[in-house]
Amino acid sequence: MTDGPALGFDTLQIHAGATPDPATGARQTPIYQSTAYVFRDADHAAALFNLQEVGFIYSRLTNPTVAVLQERLATLEGGVGAVCCSSGHAAQIMALFPLMGPGKNVVASTRLYGGTVTQFSQTIKRFGWSAKFVDTDDLEAVKAAIDDDTRAVFCESIANPGGYVTDIRALADVADAAGLPLIVDNTSATPYLCNPIAQGATLVVHSTTKYLTGNGTVTGGVVIDSGKFDWSANDKFPSLSAPEPAYHGLKFHETFGGLAFTFHGIAIGLRDLGMTMNPQAAHYTLMGVETLSLRMQRHVENAIKVATWLENDDRVDYVTYAGLPSSPYAERAERCYPKGCGGLFTFAVKGGYEACIKLVDSLKIFSHVANLGDTRSLIIHSASTTHRQLTPEQQEAAGAGPNVVRVSIGIENAEDLIADLDQALAAACG
Ligand SMILES: *Cc1c(COP(=O)(O)O)cnc(C)c1O
Repeated sequence: MTDGPALGFDTLQIHAGATPDPATGARQTPIYQSTAYVFRDADHAAALFNLQEVGFIYSRLTNPTVAVLQERLATLEGGVGAVCCSSGHAAQIMALFPLMGPGKNVVASTRLYGGTVTQFSQTIKRFGWSAKFVDTDDLEAVKAAIDDDTRAVFCESIANPGGYVTDIRALADVADAAGLPLIVDNTSATPYLCNPIAQGATLVVHSTTKYLTGNGTVTGGVVIDSGKFDWSANDKFPSLSAPEPAYHGLKFHETFGGLAFTFHGIAIGLRDLGMTMNPQAAHYTLMGVETLSLRMQRHVENAIKVATWLENDDRVDYVTYAGLPSSPYAERAERCYPKGCGGLFTFAVKGGYEACIKLVDSLKIFSHVANLGDTRSLIIHSASTTHRQLTPEQQEAAGAGPNVVRVSIGIENAEDLIADLDQALAAACG
Protein backbone atom coordinates (compact mmCIF):
# COMPACT_ATOMS: atom_id res chain seq x y z
CA MET A 1 0.00 0.00 0.00
CA THR A 2 1.06 3.58 -0.54
CA ASP A 3 1.26 6.37 2.01
CA GLY A 4 -1.72 8.67 1.88
CA PRO A 5 -4.86 9.48 3.79
CA ALA A 6 -5.76 6.95 6.47
CA LEU A 7 -7.63 4.06 4.88
CA GLY A 8 -10.92 2.69 6.16
CA PHE A 9 -11.43 -0.65 7.91
CA ASP A 10 -13.06 -2.32 4.86
CA THR A 11 -10.04 -1.40 2.72
CA LEU A 12 -7.47 -2.42 5.33
CA GLN A 13 -9.07 -5.82 6.00
CA ILE A 14 -8.35 -6.66 2.33
CA HIS A 15 -5.07 -4.86 1.67
CA ALA A 16 -3.07 -4.29 4.87
CA GLY A 17 0.25 -6.13 4.88
CA ALA A 18 -0.11 -7.53 1.35
CA THR A 19 1.39 -6.58 -2.00
CA PRO A 20 1.41 -8.58 -5.24
CA ASP A 21 3.98 -11.36 -4.89
CA PRO A 22 7.33 -9.83 -5.95
CA ALA A 23 8.50 -13.07 -7.60
CA THR A 24 5.41 -13.94 -9.66
CA GLY A 25 2.96 -11.03 -9.51
CA ALA A 26 0.40 -13.36 -7.87
CA ARG A 27 -2.40 -11.06 -6.65
CA GLN A 28 -3.50 -13.26 -3.79
CA THR A 29 -0.94 -13.84 -1.01
CA PRO A 30 0.74 -17.17 -1.85
CA ILE A 31 0.96 -19.95 0.71
CA TYR A 32 4.72 -20.03 1.24
CA GLN A 33 4.88 -23.72 2.04
CA SER A 34 8.60 -23.67 2.86
CA THR A 35 10.31 -24.59 6.09
CA ALA A 36 13.57 -22.75 5.42
CA TYR A 37 14.90 -19.77 3.42
CA VAL A 38 18.25 -19.58 1.62
CA PHE A 39 20.73 -17.08 3.08
CA ARG A 40 22.33 -14.68 0.58
CA ASP A 41 25.71 -15.48 2.14
CA ALA A 42 27.26 -16.27 5.51
CA ASP A 43 27.24 -12.60 6.61
CA HIS A 44 23.51 -12.37 5.86
CA ALA A 45 22.91 -15.52 7.93
CA ALA A 46 24.92 -14.09 10.84
CA ALA A 47 23.04 -10.77 10.73
CA LEU A 48 19.69 -12.59 10.79
CA PHE A 49 20.70 -14.77 13.72
CA ASN A 50 21.98 -11.70 15.63
CA LEU A 51 18.63 -9.91 15.06
CA GLN A 52 20.60 -7.16 13.27
CA GLU A 53 18.57 -7.72 10.12
CA VAL A 54 14.95 -8.82 9.79
CA GLY A 55 14.28 -11.66 7.38
CA PHE A 56 13.20 -15.23 7.02
CA ILE A 57 15.26 -18.05 8.55
CA TYR A 58 13.01 -20.95 9.44
CA SER A 59 9.21 -21.19 9.61
CA ARG A 60 9.02 -21.94 13.33
CA LEU A 61 9.99 -18.25 13.72
CA THR A 62 8.80 -16.45 10.60
CA ASN A 63 7.00 -17.29 7.36
CA PRO A 64 5.99 -14.86 4.59
CA THR A 65 2.30 -15.91 4.54
CA VAL A 66 2.03 -15.71 8.32
CA ALA A 67 3.87 -12.35 8.22
CA VAL A 68 1.15 -10.86 5.98
CA LEU A 69 -1.53 -11.97 8.44
CA GLN A 70 0.50 -10.54 11.35
CA GLU A 71 0.78 -7.16 9.69
CA ARG A 72 -2.89 -7.15 8.70
CA LEU A 73 -4.12 -7.95 12.20
CA ALA A 74 -1.71 -5.45 13.81
CA THR A 75 -3.06 -2.79 11.44
CA LEU A 76 -6.73 -3.58 12.12
CA GLU A 77 -6.12 -3.46 15.88
CA GLY A 78 -4.02 -0.29 15.73
CA GLY A 79 -0.94 -2.09 17.11
CA VAL A 80 2.71 -1.85 16.06
CA GLY A 81 3.33 -5.58 15.66
CA ALA A 82 1.77 -9.00 15.99
CA VAL A 83 2.84 -12.59 16.51
CA CYS A 84 0.61 -15.35 15.18
CA CYS A 85 0.40 -18.62 17.09
CA SER A 86 -1.05 -22.09 16.66
CA SER A 87 -4.23 -21.40 18.67
CA GLY A 88 -5.91 -18.83 20.87
CA HIS A 89 -4.68 -20.64 23.96
CA ALA A 90 -1.14 -20.57 22.60
CA ALA A 91 -1.53 -16.81 22.11
CA GLN A 92 -2.49 -16.40 25.78
CA ILE A 93 0.64 -18.25 26.94
CA MET A 94 2.73 -16.26 24.46
CA ALA A 95 1.27 -13.01 25.81
CA LEU A 96 2.00 -13.91 29.44
CA PHE A 97 5.38 -15.59 28.87
CA PRO A 98 7.58 -12.45 28.67
CA LEU A 99 5.78 -10.88 31.64
CA MET A 100 5.50 -13.70 34.15
CA GLY A 101 7.88 -15.84 36.15
CA PRO A 102 7.71 -18.22 39.10
CA GLY A 103 5.68 -16.61 41.91
CA LYS A 104 4.13 -13.97 39.64
CA ASN A 105 0.39 -13.60 39.07
CA VAL A 106 -2.12 -12.24 36.57
CA VAL A 107 -5.31 -10.57 37.78
CA ALA A 108 -8.04 -11.94 35.52
CA SER A 109 -11.74 -11.36 35.01
CA THR A 110 -14.13 -14.05 36.26
CA ARG A 111 -15.97 -13.74 32.93
CA LEU A 112 -13.77 -15.71 30.56
CA TYR A 113 -13.93 -18.49 28.00
CA GLY A 114 -14.15 -21.79 29.94
CA GLY A 115 -10.86 -23.06 28.53
CA THR A 116 -9.13 -19.89 29.69
CA VAL A 117 -10.43 -20.35 33.23
CA THR A 118 -8.94 -23.85 33.21
CA GLN A 119 -5.66 -22.68 31.65
CA PHE A 120 -5.33 -19.88 34.22
CA SER A 121 -6.60 -21.68 37.31
CA GLN A 122 -4.81 -25.01 36.71
CA THR A 123 -2.23 -25.33 33.96
CA ILE A 124 -0.18 -22.16 34.45
CA LYS A 125 0.55 -23.32 38.02
CA ARG A 126 3.00 -25.77 36.44
CA PHE A 127 5.11 -22.76 35.45
CA GLY A 128 4.84 -21.34 38.96
CA TRP A 129 2.43 -18.66 37.71
CA SER A 130 -1.01 -18.04 39.17
CA ALA A 131 -4.20 -16.13 38.44
CA LYS A 132 -6.42 -14.14 40.77
CA PHE A 133 -9.98 -13.98 39.48
CA VAL A 134 -12.03 -10.85 40.16
CA ASP A 135 -15.25 -9.28 38.95
CA THR A 136 -13.89 -6.57 36.66
CA ASP A 137 -17.03 -4.45 37.13
CA ASP A 138 -15.76 -3.93 40.67
CA LEU A 139 -12.74 -1.70 40.05
CA GLU A 140 -11.95 -1.54 43.78
CA ALA A 141 -11.73 -5.35 43.83
CA VAL A 142 -9.36 -5.24 40.86
CA LYS A 143 -7.15 -2.69 42.67
CA ALA A 144 -7.23 -4.80 45.83
CA ALA A 145 -6.24 -7.95 43.94
CA ILE A 146 -3.13 -6.33 42.43
CA ASP A 147 -0.02 -6.95 44.54
CA ASP A 148 3.77 -6.62 44.13
CA ASP A 149 3.90 -9.89 42.20
CA THR A 150 1.15 -9.01 39.72
CA ARG A 151 2.47 -8.67 36.18
CA ALA A 152 -0.69 -8.23 34.08
CA VAL A 153 -4.44 -7.67 34.11
CA PHE A 154 -6.46 -9.85 31.73
CA CYS A 155 -10.04 -9.60 30.44
CA GLU A 156 -12.21 -10.31 27.40
CA SER A 157 -13.83 -7.38 25.57
CA ILE A 158 -17.16 -9.08 24.88
CA ALA A 159 -16.95 -11.98 27.29
CA ASN A 160 -17.82 -15.61 26.88
CA PRO A 161 -20.35 -17.06 27.24
CA GLY A 162 -22.92 -14.45 28.20
CA GLY A 163 -21.97 -11.67 25.78
CA TYR A 164 -21.10 -9.45 28.79
CA VAL A 165 -19.32 -6.22 27.75
CA THR A 166 -16.22 -4.92 29.52
CA ASP A 167 -15.50 -1.23 30.06
CA ILE A 168 -11.92 -1.51 28.81
CA ARG A 169 -11.08 2.15 29.41
CA ALA A 170 -12.00 1.90 33.10
CA LEU A 171 -9.94 -1.27 33.55
CA ALA A 172 -7.00 0.17 31.59
CA ASP A 173 -6.93 3.14 33.95
CA VAL A 174 -6.61 0.79 36.93
CA ALA A 175 -3.84 -1.22 35.22
CA ASP A 176 -2.04 2.01 34.22
CA ALA A 177 -2.14 3.39 37.75
CA ALA A 178 -0.52 0.15 38.96
CA GLY A 179 2.10 0.23 36.15
CA LEU A 180 0.78 -2.99 34.64
CA PRO A 181 -0.09 -4.03 31.09
CA LEU A 182 -3.75 -4.76 30.34
CA ILE A 183 -4.22 -7.78 28.06
CA VAL A 184 -7.58 -7.94 26.28
CA ASP A 185 -8.90 -11.08 24.57
CA ASN A 186 -10.80 -9.47 21.69
CA THR A 187 -11.94 -12.75 20.09
CA SER A 188 -15.71 -12.27 20.41
CA ALA A 189 -15.77 -8.59 19.46
CA THR A 190 -13.08 -8.57 16.73
CA PRO A 191 -11.32 -5.32 15.76
CA TYR A 192 -14.44 -4.39 13.79
CA LEU A 193 -16.57 -3.96 16.92
CA CYS A 194 -13.87 -3.05 19.44
CA ASN A 195 -10.35 -1.61 19.41
CA PRO A 196 -8.94 -2.35 22.87
CA ILE A 197 -5.68 -0.51 22.12
CA ALA A 198 -7.59 2.72 21.40
CA GLN A 199 -9.19 2.26 24.83
CA GLY A 200 -5.89 1.83 26.64
CA ALA A 201 -5.02 -1.88 26.36
CA THR A 202 -1.34 -2.82 26.08
CA LEU A 203 -1.75 -6.19 24.37
CA VAL A 204 -4.59 -7.79 22.44
CA VAL A 205 -4.96 -11.54 21.99
CA HIS A 206 -7.30 -13.42 19.69
CA SER A 207 -8.39 -16.90 18.95
CA THR A 208 -8.28 -16.39 15.16
CA THR A 209 -10.13 -19.72 15.06
CA LYS A 210 -13.36 -17.80 15.56
CA TYR A 211 -14.65 -14.67 13.74
CA LEU A 212 -11.34 -13.67 12.11
CA THR A 213 -11.19 -16.91 10.10
CA GLY A 214 -14.95 -16.94 10.31
CA ASN A 215 -15.98 -20.27 8.88
CA GLY A 216 -14.70 -22.90 11.27
CA THR A 217 -11.76 -24.21 9.25
CA VAL A 218 -8.50 -23.74 11.19
CA THR A 219 -7.28 -22.98 14.70
CA GLY A 220 -4.97 -20.06 15.30
CA GLY A 221 -4.16 -17.21 17.60
CA VAL A 222 -2.40 -13.88 17.65
CA VAL A 223 -0.80 -11.48 20.14
CA ILE A 224 -0.86 -7.84 19.06
CA ASP A 225 1.23 -5.19 20.83
CA SER A 226 0.24 -1.55 21.17
CA GLY A 227 3.94 -0.64 21.38
CA LYS A 228 3.06 1.85 24.09
CA PHE A 229 4.08 0.18 27.34
CA ASP A 230 7.33 1.26 29.03
CA TRP A 231 8.86 -2.12 29.88
CA SER A 232 11.94 -0.39 31.37
CA ALA A 233 10.09 1.86 33.86
CA ASN A 234 11.13 -0.53 36.65
CA ASP A 235 12.63 -4.00 37.06
CA LYS A 236 9.32 -5.88 36.83
CA PHE A 237 9.77 -7.04 33.22
CA PRO A 238 13.38 -8.28 32.97
CA SER A 239 12.68 -10.41 29.86
CA LEU A 240 12.13 -7.18 27.98
CA SER A 241 14.33 -4.71 29.87
CA ALA A 242 17.36 -6.72 31.10
CA PRO A 243 20.21 -8.24 29.03
CA GLU A 244 19.15 -11.46 27.22
CA PRO A 245 21.86 -14.11 27.54
CA ALA A 246 20.62 -16.00 24.44
CA TYR A 247 21.40 -12.90 22.32
CA HIS A 248 24.78 -11.76 23.71
CA GLY A 249 23.19 -9.53 26.34
CA LEU A 250 20.84 -7.68 23.96
CA LYS A 251 18.12 -5.71 25.75
CA PHE A 252 14.88 -6.06 23.78
CA HIS A 253 13.24 -2.83 24.92
CA GLU A 254 16.35 -0.70 24.54
CA THR A 255 17.12 -2.18 21.10
CA PHE A 256 13.66 -2.48 19.52
CA GLY A 257 11.66 0.19 21.38
CA GLY A 258 7.94 -0.18 20.67
CA LEU A 259 8.58 -3.45 18.83
CA ALA A 260 10.28 -5.10 21.83
CA PHE A 261 7.36 -7.34 22.72
CA THR A 262 6.89 -8.48 19.12
CA PHE A 263 10.59 -9.22 18.59
CA HIS A 264 10.72 -11.09 21.89
CA GLY A 265 7.63 -13.07 20.87
CA ILE A 266 9.35 -14.29 17.72
CA ALA A 267 13.00 -14.49 18.77
CA ILE A 268 12.35 -16.13 22.17
CA GLY A 269 8.66 -17.13 22.28
CA LEU A 270 8.24 -18.89 18.94
CA ARG A 271 11.87 -20.00 18.85
CA ASP A 272 11.72 -21.78 22.21
CA LEU A 273 8.03 -22.55 22.81
CA GLY A 274 7.33 -23.42 19.16
CA MET A 275 3.60 -22.53 19.20
CA THR A 276 3.80 -21.52 15.55
CA MET A 277 0.97 -20.83 13.11
CA ASN A 278 1.43 -22.76 9.86
CA PRO A 279 1.13 -21.02 6.47
CA GLN A 280 -2.02 -22.96 5.46
CA ALA A 281 -3.81 -21.71 8.56
CA ALA A 282 -2.62 -18.17 7.88
CA HIS A 283 -4.04 -18.46 4.35
CA TYR A 284 -7.51 -19.50 5.55
CA THR A 285 -7.49 -16.71 8.13
CA LEU A 286 -6.39 -14.12 5.55
CA MET A 287 -9.36 -15.24 3.39
CA GLY A 288 -11.68 -14.81 6.35
CA VAL A 289 -10.40 -11.41 7.43
CA GLU A 290 -11.16 -9.97 3.94
CA THR A 291 -14.91 -10.12 4.75
CA LEU A 292 -14.77 -9.49 8.50
CA SER A 293 -16.75 -6.23 8.60
CA LEU A 294 -19.53 -7.59 6.37
CA ARG A 295 -19.91 -10.71 8.44
CA MET A 296 -19.82 -8.87 11.77
CA GLN A 297 -22.57 -6.49 10.62
CA ARG A 298 -24.80 -9.47 9.77
CA HIS A 299 -23.86 -11.39 12.95
CA VAL A 300 -24.95 -8.34 14.98
CA GLU A 301 -28.15 -7.76 12.98
CA ASN A 302 -29.18 -11.41 13.33
CA ALA A 303 -28.23 -11.58 17.02
CA ILE A 304 -30.47 -8.61 17.81
CA LYS A 305 -33.41 -10.22 15.95
CA VAL A 306 -32.97 -13.64 17.54
CA ALA A 307 -32.31 -12.26 21.06
CA THR A 308 -35.38 -10.02 20.82
CA TRP A 309 -37.56 -12.95 19.73
CA LEU A 310 -36.22 -15.17 22.54
CA GLU A 311 -36.71 -12.46 25.15
CA ASN A 312 -40.40 -12.31 24.25
CA ASP A 313 -40.91 -16.09 24.32
CA ASP A 314 -42.64 -17.66 27.35
CA ARG A 315 -40.40 -20.71 27.37
CA VAL A 316 -37.33 -18.55 27.93
CA ASP A 317 -36.43 -17.19 31.38
CA TYR A 318 -33.95 -14.53 30.34
CA VAL A 319 -31.53 -13.55 27.57
CA THR A 320 -28.11 -12.08 28.35
CA TYR A 321 -27.39 -10.03 25.25
CA ALA A 322 -25.83 -6.63 25.92
CA GLY A 323 -27.27 -5.46 22.59
CA LEU A 324 -30.84 -5.60 23.99
CA PRO A 325 -32.30 -2.36 25.37
CA SER A 326 -33.37 -4.35 28.46
CA SER A 327 -29.78 -5.41 29.27
CA PRO A 328 -28.24 -3.97 32.46
CA TYR A 329 -25.24 -3.26 30.21
CA ALA A 330 -27.22 -1.34 27.56
CA GLU A 331 -25.69 2.03 28.50
CA ARG A 332 -22.15 0.63 28.53
CA ALA A 333 -22.77 -1.24 25.29
CA GLU A 334 -23.83 1.94 23.53
CA ARG A 335 -20.87 3.88 24.92
CA CYS A 336 -18.11 1.29 24.43
CA TYR A 337 -19.44 -0.91 21.58
CA PRO A 338 -21.39 1.46 19.30
CA LYS A 339 -21.25 -0.90 16.30
CA GLY A 340 -22.88 -3.71 18.24
CA CYS A 341 -22.28 -6.41 20.80
CA GLY A 342 -21.39 -9.32 18.54
CA GLY A 343 -23.21 -12.55 17.85
CA LEU A 344 -22.69 -14.39 21.09
CA PHE A 345 -25.11 -14.65 24.01
CA THR A 346 -26.79 -17.03 26.38
CA PHE A 347 -30.39 -17.68 27.28
CA ALA A 348 -31.98 -19.62 30.11
CA VAL A 349 -34.63 -22.23 29.34
CA LYS A 350 -37.47 -22.63 31.85
CA GLY A 351 -37.23 -26.44 31.85
CA GLY A 352 -33.66 -26.34 33.24
CA TYR A 353 -30.89 -28.85 32.49
CA GLU A 354 -33.16 -31.51 30.86
CA ALA A 355 -34.91 -29.01 28.58
CA CYS A 356 -31.52 -27.59 27.49
CA ILE A 357 -30.33 -31.06 26.50
CA LYS A 358 -33.57 -31.66 24.50
CA LEU A 359 -33.28 -28.23 22.90
CA VAL A 360 -29.77 -28.77 21.55
CA ASP A 361 -30.76 -32.23 20.28
CA SER A 362 -33.86 -30.89 18.47
CA LEU A 363 -32.30 -28.03 16.51
CA LYS A 364 -31.85 -28.57 12.76
CA ILE A 365 -30.01 -25.45 11.50
CA PHE A 366 -28.04 -24.71 14.67
CA SER A 367 -25.19 -27.17 15.21
CA HIS A 368 -24.35 -28.44 18.68
CA VAL A 369 -20.59 -27.79 18.75
CA ALA A 370 -17.85 -26.41 20.98
CA ASN A 371 -17.05 -23.46 18.78
CA LEU A 372 -18.18 -19.91 18.09
CA GLY A 373 -17.75 -17.21 15.49
CA ASP A 374 -18.68 -19.37 12.52
CA THR A 375 -20.80 -18.28 9.52
CA ARG A 376 -23.27 -20.96 10.64
CA SER A 377 -25.25 -20.73 13.86
CA LEU A 378 -23.95 -22.78 16.74
CA ILE A 379 -25.29 -23.74 20.14
CA ILE A 380 -23.79 -25.36 23.16
CA HIS A 381 -24.96 -26.33 26.60
CA SER A 382 -21.91 -25.01 28.45
CA ALA A 383 -22.58 -26.71 31.80
CA SER A 384 -22.39 -30.21 30.25
CA THR A 385 -19.52 -29.41 27.85
CA THR A 386 -17.10 -26.42 27.75
CA HIS A 387 -17.65 -25.44 31.38
CA ARG A 388 -17.94 -29.03 32.65
CA GLN A 389 -14.51 -28.89 34.38
CA LEU A 390 -15.58 -25.88 36.45
CA THR A 391 -17.16 -26.01 39.90
CA PRO A 392 -20.87 -25.04 40.11
CA GLU A 393 -19.77 -21.70 41.63
CA GLN A 394 -17.36 -21.07 38.74
CA GLN A 395 -20.11 -22.03 36.25
CA GLU A 396 -22.51 -19.51 37.78
CA ALA A 397 -19.80 -16.81 37.92
CA ALA A 398 -19.07 -17.44 34.24
CA GLY A 399 -22.77 -17.21 33.35
CA ALA A 400 -22.91 -20.88 32.41
CA GLY A 401 -25.40 -22.38 34.86
CA PRO A 402 -27.24 -25.69 34.15
CA ASN A 403 -30.35 -23.97 32.66
CA VAL A 404 -28.31 -21.87 30.25
CA VAL A 405 -27.38 -22.45 26.61
CA ARG A 406 -24.92 -20.36 24.62
CA VAL A 407 -25.58 -19.45 21.01
CA SER A 408 -23.26 -18.07 18.39
CA ILE A 409 -25.57 -16.50 15.85
CA GLY A 410 -24.46 -17.04 12.25
CA ILE A 411 -25.15 -15.10 9.08
CA GLU A 412 -28.06 -17.19 7.78
CA ASN A 413 -31.59 -15.70 7.39
CA ALA A 414 -32.70 -14.63 10.85
CA GLU A 415 -36.27 -15.86 10.20
CA ASP A 416 -34.92 -19.40 9.60
CA LEU A 417 -32.95 -19.30 12.83
CA ILE A 418 -36.01 -18.14 14.78
CA ALA A 419 -38.19 -20.87 13.23
CA ASP A 420 -35.57 -23.46 14.16
CA LEU A 421 -35.42 -22.26 17.77
CA ASP A 422 -39.23 -22.18 17.90
CA GLN A 423 -39.64 -25.84 16.91
CA ALA A 424 -36.78 -26.97 19.18
CA LEU A 425 -38.19 -25.07 22.18
CA ALA A 426 -41.54 -26.75 21.49
CA ALA A 427 -39.82 -30.16 21.58
CA ALA A 428 -37.83 -29.23 24.71
CA CYS A 429 -40.59 -27.66 26.77
CA GLY A 430 -43.50 -29.89 25.71
C1 LIG B 1 -11.90 -20.11 21.56
C2 LIG B 1 -11.43 -19.07 22.47
C3 LIG B 1 -10.15 -19.15 23.05
C4 LIG B 1 -9.21 -20.28 22.79
O1 LIG B 1 -8.84 -20.30 21.44
P1 LIG B 1 -8.39 -21.63 20.68
O2 LIG B 1 -8.11 -21.14 19.29
O3 LIG B 1 -9.53 -22.59 20.75
O4 LIG B 1 -7.18 -22.13 21.40
C5 LIG B 1 -9.76 -18.12 23.88
N1 LIG B 1 -10.57 -17.09 24.15
C6 LIG B 1 -11.79 -16.98 23.63
C7 LIG B 1 -12.65 -15.81 23.96
C8 LIG B 1 -12.27 -17.96 22.76
O5 LIG B 1 -13.50 -17.86 22.24
